Amino acid sequence: MIGPPGAGKGTQAVILASTYKIPAISTGDIFRSNVANETELGLQVKAIMAAGEYVPDSLTNAVVESRLSESDAKAGFLLDGYPRTTDQVHELDRMLTAHGTALSVVVLITADTDEVVSRLLNRAGVEGRADDTETVIRHRLALYEEQTAPLIALYAARNWVVTVDGLGAVDDVTSRIVSALATKGIAAPAA
Ligand code: AMP
Repeated sequence: MIGPPGAGKGTQAVILASTYKIPAISTGDIFRSNVANETELGLQVKAIMAAGEYVPDSLTNAVVESRLSESDAKAGFLLDGYPRTTDQVHELDRMLTAHGTALSVVVLITADTDEVVSRLLNRAGVEGRADDTETVIRHRLALYEEQTAPLIALYAARNWVVTVDGLGAVDDVTSRIVSALATKGIAAPAA
């Protein structure tokens, strides 16, 4: 899943993981839990995340490679917030080729800037994330535009991208994603 911070990727990833019975792998969640547990990785990334910068590709790619090699990812997985840079795209290609697999679809969730800023400021009051202050939010959005938005064209050239409007109720957005995935031949397993 790709889209600006605040578009609802994390919320949708959790719902979709349960619908499609695959693990949702969120690099942001992995980093946050390492920070909370004060692991070596957590100590390395804490200040970077609080500033809204990207964690270096080498660290991020290593985290994903190790998570993808766990057994629950064998039958499929959903990536939330990764890849975010061109280097990460190429590393992910390499990892998946090594596992004899590839992505099937890239879900782009769109939302305009005013909407995502107000959602993130609202989340700041609820979750208390260190990176949800207005200055850091603006920086994360700028970084998304500069480093991550260009990946959409790269994946569109592979014909993998479906675009879903992220505005509106959570359930409505989920329905849009499910319909978009069906156009790529991806259906949820029977309950
Ligand atoms: P997120 O929860 O996806 O908004 O990610 C929170 C923060 O974790 C980001 O602002 C980055 O500091 C870091 N992060 C998460 N995923 C990545 C990634 N793929 N590449 C670099 N940094 C990341």
